[in-house]
Order: sequence, then structure tokens, then C-alpha cells
Amino acid sequence: PLQTPLLKTNGLVAYYGDFQALFGVDIELDVDETVAIIGANGAGKTTLMRSIAGILRNAATSVSFDGRPIGAQPADEIMTQGVAMVPEGRRLFPSLSVEENLLIGTYGRKSRGYWTLDTVYDLFPILRERRNNPGTALSGGQQQMVAIGRALMSNPRVLLCDEISLGLAPVVIKDIYKAVPAIKAAGASLIVVEQDIAQAMAFADRVYCMMEGRVTLSGTPDTLSRNDIHDAYFGAS
Ligand code: ATP
Repeated sequence: PLQTPLLKTNGLVAYYGDFQALFGVDIELDVDETVAIIGANGAGKTTLMRSIAGILRNAATSVSFDGRPIGAQPADEIMTQGVAMVPEGRRLFPSLSVEENLLIGTYGRKSRGYWTLDTVYDLFPILRERRNNPGTALSGGQQQMVAIGRALMSNPRVLLCDEISLGLAPVVIKDIYKAVPAIKAAGASLIVVEQDIAQAMAFADRVYCMMEGRVTLSGTPDTLSRNDIHDAYFGAS
């Protein structure tokens, strides 16, 4: 393609001590694209997100953003440049209110943009009603909305979402995915880790499947067959 990808990993590897969790992962995210990462437990999806976000450090060239190598930069610098993460398990500050949790997302923000308390409350109206409640007084779905809102408050160009639907009821998951078009319209491209294959196929422009620290399949949802996905997800039998 003529266009440089907005974000790209180049032969990304990751280790926990001696244990190698990623073995040369290459993924790309274009401007305005939504990419889903699918794969079984332990495939390395969270490790990939944490490596891109700078929580795990890499070789400088193993991650590039906007054509610049960012792989060796710390997480706060990566966030300031426009890559925000919604972590697995939401990680809210339980003693802080909804509003205080959202305002934490403005830390390190470089420029003003679309996302403010008001526009986040427009996206998830229930949070406006609950703005003074502590994070712990919320349902799982509402906590997930706060975690997404907090990441949006930095006005990211790339939003990394790790398992946003984990443990939530289908109707709540639907509500959360309904926010994706508005997030894209405000100028962010998304990488979303999703265990639910059908869900991933429904919302993503492109899908990567991982297994045992490697990308085993990639493509647009309409080009991937059920059999190919099954083999890439579980291994060919
Ligand atoms: P899940 O859906 O369970 O979150 P995942 O695809 O996100 O799975 P990772 O969490 O990235 O997978 O884990 C990849 C591999 O790295 C697994 O084998 C896991 O046991 C290992 N791993 C993850 N975190 C650590 C850690 N902090 N220390 C040691 N090994 C780890």
C-alpha cells in the first residue's frame, strides 16, 4: 500500500524472564481502521497490547507509530504521542469517583481534542448520572465504560482495547460496541482484543488470529473461512 500504516509491529518479540511469549509478531493498523486480535487464552494477545503501549519495552524498531520507532519508549511517552490503552480488567481507582477516574485520562494529554467529560458522558449517558459514584459502586459494564472513557480523555489516535467484553452480559457488550463508530468518527483507529470470534468478525475491518505467540491468520472477515479460523485458533488437527 502507498499509505504508511498508522501503527505497525515489526518482528515483535516479548519475554517474561526466560519465557518467550511473542515470536516475531507483525501487525499493521491503518488510519480509520478497526482491527481485532483473536486467539485462545495464553496466545499472547495481552502481551502484544502491553508491548505496543510500552508497558513491556522492546527494541526501538519493533513498534512504529506514524512512521517513527516507538518500541523503546516508556508507556507515558507513548500515551502522550497518541496511543492509549484500555487495560484488561478495567483497573479503575476504587476510591475515586467516576469523574475523577475519567480526569486521570487527561494526564499527559498533549493537545485538546474532541474528548472531554461532556463528550464522554454523551457517549455513555449512564456515566453522567453516576459521575459522583465511586468506581466500586458500578456494574461491570459501567466500569468498562469508565475505562474506555478514561482512555479517550487523552484524545488518542490509536485506542488499544484488551478484552472489553470479558465477563459482561451480551446486552451490555452490545451497548459498549455501539460506541465504536463514534470513537472512530472522533479520529481514533482501534485495535481490540476479543475472545468472541463472532463479535470480532462483526465489528472489525480486519482480523488477526494469534496462537502460541505468533500470528497464525489475518484478513478481512469476509475472506476468512470458519475452517481457517478454527485451525488458526486451535491449531490444525
Ligand atoms: P488471555 O486471554 O488469557 O489474557 P492472552 O492471549 O492475552 O491470554 P497473554 O496474557 O499475553 O495471553 O499470555 C501469553 C503467555 O505469556 C502465556 O503463556 C502466559 O502464561 C504468559 N504470561 C503472561 N503474563 C506473564 C507474566 N507476567 N509472567 C510470566 N508469564 C506470563
